[in-house]
Amino acid sequence: MKKLAVALLTAATALVSTFTLAAAPDAVFFNAKIVTLDAAGTTAEAVAVQNGKFLKVGKSEEIKKLAGPSTKQVDLGGKTVVPGLIDSHCHPIETIMMKDTWVDGRYPGCSSVKQVLSNIADWVKNTPKGKWVFVACVSASENKFAEKRLPNKAELDAVAPDNPLLLANGAHMAMVNSAALKVLGVKKGMKRLPHGGIIILDKNGEPTGVLTDCQDDVPIFQSVAAHVERYYSKEIQEFWNRHGFTSLVAITPALTLPVLQKLAQAKFTPTIRYSVSVWNSADGRDMPQDLSRFKFSPDADPAFYRFMAIKAWVDGEQDCRTGYMYEPYLGHFAIDPPGGKGSLVTNQPKANRFAGIAQKNGVFCMLHCAGDHAMDIGLNAFEKPLKSNPARNIYRIEHFGVFQMSDKQLQRAKEMKKQGLHISVQPTWLLELIKANYENMGEARTKTGFRFRDMIEAGLEPAASTDMTGVYMGNINPFTSIYALVTRNSDMGIFMREQAISVTDALRMWTIWSAKAMGLADVKGSIEPGKYADMTVLSDDIFTMPKEGLKDVKALKTIVGGKVVYKAK
Ligand SMILES: [Zn+2]
Repeated sequence: MKKLAVALLTAATALVSTFTLAAAPDAVFFNAKIVTLDAAGTTAEAVAVQNGKFLKVGKSEEIKKLAGPSTKQVDLGGKTVVPGLIDSHCHPIETIMMKDTWVDGRYPGCSSVKQVLSNIADWVKNTPKGKWVFVACVSASENKFAEKRLPNKAELDAVAPDNPLLLANGAHMAMVNSAALKVLGVKKGMKRLPHGGIIILDKNGEPTGVLTDCQDDVPIFQSVAAHVERYYSKEIQEFWNRHGFTSLVAITPALTLPVLQKLAQAKFTPTIRYSVSVWNSADGRDMPQDLSRFKFSPDADPAFYRFMAIKAWVDGEQDCRTGYMYEPYLGHFAIDPPGGKGSLVTNQPKANRFAGIAQKNGVFCMLHCAGDHAMDIGLNAFEKPLKSNPARNIYRIEHFGVFQMSDKQLQRAKEMKKQGLHISVQPTWLLELIKANYENMGEARTKTGFRFRDMIEAGLEPAASTDMTGVYMGNINPFTSIYALVTRNSDMGIFMREQAISVTDALRMWTIWSAKAMGLADVKGSIEPGKYADMTVLSDDIFTMPKEGLKDVKALKTIVGGKVVYKAK
């Protein structure tokens, strides 16, 4: 009997200590100004974390009391802490690829045609004959280079006679050399590449070397296939963590997805949460009806890996005169798409079909729409699936209203928002594309874009994103974008001051509204018990500092699931 009592007592003690251990948080973070962005607008001092999630949010003294002997204690030194930043639309594979394996022709580091040609010549010297050479330029480089033009085909032939070469003028337009035209099988009079890329011809039907939306026709990703695993498991997370990001929506080329699926299956835990949006051809033509192959295996950790959406491009973008508009661009350049109103990549029937595939498979649909005409195509495509949307699927327009937005489109989006429409926007472009928009569209049309305050007042809850592709490396910085949102500073001085928003709303765009646009507001986007313990510790108090200083703010620490994954040196 005594034996039994002892045994029972031992069991009970074990149970109690197990219980105590389970109840003590894994970590407590205290002594901070924590702006939680919860519905009540709470500011706290400390959080307790357990199993990667927030357990409790409160005052430093009360949270520290929860700590057990094995609880990690982190003093945040009185710093300002915000929910982990979310990049709601970016191209991480392209970013790392262009950063590491493309010739640098980016303004402002590379400011003339002469310099870009010399950079190419240096690169070609060390490149085997026949190997593709890729050159990164910023969008609308022709406006930015000293010569006010791009290098032409003859110049590219002179520096790269034996290598196919593509010089990207932003993400939607490229100049190629004669060797590339040969490899791509382009002949006189040919207007389209097999996967939808548009070939711009001169008046005699000869290819000028300009291609638009040719990303599926050129072996861009094949050249880095061997490195993709390293990109996904190391470089992407390091680059985004360094700038305060804890989650991202990776617009992912279908052919690189199996690499990420393999990592997930191997139980690799990244330091960034991946939500994947798959594309396989710009106009969606190759998107299968059954999307099950894009799913992650059931044993992949859903906190880090998720197949979220499919994506297609309705058009290009106004800064490189390919956004699809109702009215023509100002002036005319030889390299412009025919018709002078931009390029229509995905027409209405194709867009409708694409939205239908997403609906059938219960995944989100993302359509890139930059021009006013393209925006209507996107809204039209989503109208029917949104009307009956029992699965509460999310339909997203990417770049909505960034370049152009009519009041009618704003009203229409406001109604559709109630049924599941979300939008992603790129506020950083205020700092680099306003001048190009004036040149390309004139003042009246330019001033219909970037109306973030109007969007917010209409309840659209815009999700901010870097849209990183590796074209503008500086766009990775969310704080310069917050600076632009709050001050309305642009590359043409103050642009439409009345559209300025508060720091808190700018932060919502990078956190809770991004989470909503991913359908994940129940697990991220604010600092609340039960959500993933993702936080960003800031160098300054963005809520009280002079607005001019916002552009210099840095992430001091990035915390994912309660673990410090980045620490500034
Ligand atoms: Zn994009």
